Amino acid sequence: MHWAEAFFTDDSDEVIATGISPSGAIHIGNMREILTGDILSKAAVRRKKKTRFIYLGDDADPLRKVYPFLPASYSEHVGKPLYRIPAPEGKQSYSEYYLAPFLKTLDIVNVRVEVIRSSDLYKNGTLAEAAKLIFENIGKVEQILQEVSQRKLESNWAPYNPMCSMCGRITTTTVTGISFPYVEYTCKCGNSGKSDVRKDDGKLPWRLEWPAKWFALGVTTEPFGKDHGAAGGSYDTGKRIAEEIFHIKAPKPMMFERILLKGKGVMHSSTGINVSAYDFVSNSPPEALRYILAKNQPSRHINFDPGLGLLSVMDEMEKYRRAYFGLDRVSDENLESILLYSSVTGMIEKPAPVSFRHLVTLIQIYRDPDSIIRLARVDAGGEEIVRREIEIARRWLSSYAPEEIKFKMLPADERVNLPENERQFILALLTSIEGAEWDAENIHNVIHESIKACAIDQEEGFMAIYRLLIGKEKGPRLGYFLYGLGKEFVTRRLRINA
Ligand SMILES: [Zn+2]
Repeated sequence: MHWAEAFFTDDSDEVIATGISPSGAIHIGNMREILTGDILSKAAVRRKKKTRFIYLGDDADPLRKVYPFLPASYSEHVGKPLYRIPAPEGKQSYSEYYLAPFLKTLDIVNVRVEVIRSSDLYKNGTLAEAAKLIFENIGKVEQILQEVSQRKLESNWAPYNPMCSMCGRITTTTVTGISFPYVEYTCKCGNSGKSDVRKDDGKLPWRLEWPAKWFALGVTTEPFGKDHGAAGGSYDTGKRIAEEIFHIKAPKPMMFERILLKGKGVMHSSTGINVSAYDFVSNSPPEALRYILAKNQPSRHINFDPGLGLLSVMDEMEKYRRAYFGLDRVSDENLESILLYSSVTGMIEKPAPVSFRHLVTLIQIYRDPDSIIRLARVDAGGEEIVRREIEIARRWLSSYAPEEIKFKMLPADERVNLPENERQFILALLTSIEGAEWDAENIHNVIHESIKACAIDQEEGFMAIYRLLIGKEKGPRLGYFLYGLGKEFVTRRLRINA
């Protein structure tokens, strides 16, 4: 059974919550949470559960520091809630500035989610009842936090972080008295005042805010990274707060492993080691990321490679699609579920008229999409799809393709100096290929036969062909490549160099 379907064991209603702090550009590493939630919600709907799927933008979180991507002038905003800080450019707030491309990303990858900003939960008083219960049971709350984390709370710890009415910070205030709905404070800036917890005058600390959201929104399921799920971590404290203070069941957790950037490791907005989620889904086939997450168990970490790795993912997904439509074979009992949860249209897509890998080669041979459509014998129904994929392939080629797969055709009449044995091989290949039927698989076979007949190394034979076509030693898979170039061009290049 698919992991998302195995997760649900009854038919009760679901409120599935996810959350990300919009403190910087959202990268691919951040996408596992929302896509895991989305796949779970689609599995719940498929099971006919009444399902609510929400994304909580943690915009009431304070700016922790001046990240390397921010101007130094942001030091004056450190400690203020993200939604009250101006954006690095434009007129909106800091949090909206980073949320906007994330929400566009969700749209591209077919995530339909109810977006809730934490700042609104405070403004509307949605979390006030939870705060009241916390204040009423403060001794118990402190005991739970200390027992689970096995660390003593700091002497100035308080169950609420008031926002200073003068300097706007929530990290510089010290609570001096609590009487629901008010919290009195003094601030390092010299100000003192009173926050109303029914308004956005401050916020609950994270370990209390998380279960408060479960309580206020009735969350039943939540995916989160293993950092939150560590023993003594925020899920463990949240679970006890939920049970012992709010008297509710904590949401069922779906813990997931990280998405690492292949060869680089953990992604962070602040270290520059990341791939922007919006850039990736805008410049690659948008279903690829969904496929990767639908295919892999959440407990498996993913080595994400937007370059060559993406081509392998697309090959595999194509094979799955062909298998689903009876044109290939894949032994995977989850085939249908994986394709369904990978889809950006809500339905399982037919196999592409031209594979993505092949398109990446063809766009480097032909500028004109019409030539590609003609060559690949795309029927009228598939034309629009191929035109769209050509655009995506072009963007991917200029954004993520490694140099080794980029090439330029040598002019038809250019002579290349080849060693004698390679020249002999080219001559033999020319003879066989002139009489060959022109399809990719047959061309592939003819090349292998000619290599054997000439007692030349396979590698050397391939290199000779690449050298006289693109002036490089490696290139696209030869069968499809030569097929794409057309018989006339290939025989001409071989003849001139034989
Ligand atoms: Zn202040």
